[in-house]
Amino acid sequence: MIDLRLLWTWDHCVQWTAARAGVHDWGASNEFSGTTADFVREHSLLLRWCGRHGLDGVVVWGLLRDGHGGVDAVKRLCDVAHEAGVRLLAGVGLNAYGGVYYEGSSPWSLNNHLARHPELFALRADGQRHIYQVAGNAPQPMLHACPSRPENLDYCLEGLRWLLETVPLDGVQVETGDSYVCECPLCRERRVHPVSVMSWEDMALFYGPAADAVWSVRPGATVVLETYSHPQPVSAGSAAGFGGGSPPWAAECLAQFPREAHVQWVADYFAAPLNPVPWTARLPQGFAGQIMRAHLATWWIGRGDEVAIDWLAQIAQQSLAVGCNGLSIFGDKSAFRTGCELNYLALADYGSAANPGADLDSFLERIAAPLLGGPALATEYLRLARGIASPADLDQATATARRHAAALTGRPAERWAWLAWYLSRWLYDARDDGLGD
Ligand SMILES: [Zn+2]
Repeated sequence: MIDLRLLWTWDHCVQWTAARAGVHDWGASNEFSGTTADFVREHSLLLRWCGRHGLDGVVVWGLLRDGHGGVDAVKRLCDVAHEAGVRLLAGVGLNAYGGVYYEGSSPWSLNNHLARHPELFALRADGQRHIYQVAGNAPQPMLHACPSRPENLDYCLEGLRWLLETVPLDGVQVETGDSYVCECPLCRERRVHPVSVMSWEDMALFYGPAADAVWSVRPGATVVLETYSHPQPVSAGSAAGFGGGSPPWAAECLAQFPREAHVQWVADYFAAPLNPVPWTARLPQGFAGQIMRAHLATWWIGRGDEVAIDWLAQIAQQSLAVGCNGLSIFGDKSAFRTGCELNYLALADYGSAANPGADLDSFLERIAAPLLGGPALATEYLRLARGIASPADLDQATATARRHAAALTGRPAERWAWLAWYLSRWLYDARDDGLGD
């Protein structure tokens, strides 16, 4: 059974008012372009929708910023989350991603800590401070702390305790960083195994104390530990990058993770639509939970907002088979976008008592059909949505979606109109080198 269903966001991408200006489509470490009122409203809409539709929690990166109200705004969101019966989790970078307080004058902003203590910076192999500009839509350079310095671990643990004492969050998702690791002499001497953009040994070093710091203030809080990896084994000697498989030494590092936490995995490169291969891995036993997370329907890897209910069904089935009890997908965009709406509802349904096998047809018949004009139209909706991958069929698919929209009324009609608009974007780009008519 799946009993933990999470949506994952960066604050600057969250758009739950259907029509709103100035929001990023994707990315990390961007500026937040709205006001405090925008921040509270957009995330409140998201939390309340989750509460009404059976999703358990929302992870927000960039949760604490001076630019959108800091602690007071997050306290208001905690109230909304509690009223909605949804867990609000802060995304917290332990050695990267800004620390506990993403941006502002707070001493719990990792950037401020490193400005005060430049000797505690992580170092690159050339001895320079590790300040990394992530490629793509992540404009703010990321400062990294050296995980081998006990002062940084102490700072991290004190910050987590401050966070839980200051705002009534339900928990955290923690990460050590996936934008290259500290290469200082202390770190090189400490680590036995190879590294890539991340280090399993750094995770093992920080995750136990970090979780204990959270639970020392809020026993029972949800703690999600990011592995940046898929459980499928990779060959000895290689340290896979983000979304790669687990190297032989992952097991000894996982053995040091706290058992009361949830371990989070990355599905993308071992699953539909990119690489639908069989999974032979068995997950380590004894944890509170195991979460499989996928970048479905985002511009990070695929196409933003696209209908992904069939791929999610496959991922859910594979995840259940290897022993996962949690699923997580991106949740930054409003359910007004029908691709997002269907994906979120599928997340709520797969692995539930009503659909224990995560069966796509069952979802289409019970959940999607009433939203789209009936069972036959629900099946048709998914087939036409896939028209993006078949340029020769796009014209026909778009015309068919328009016809169904015209024949229906209310929200079912709007959902078909959304699909016609969505497909027509690719149709437009395919004509006359994107200049259209
Ligand atoms: Zn170091």
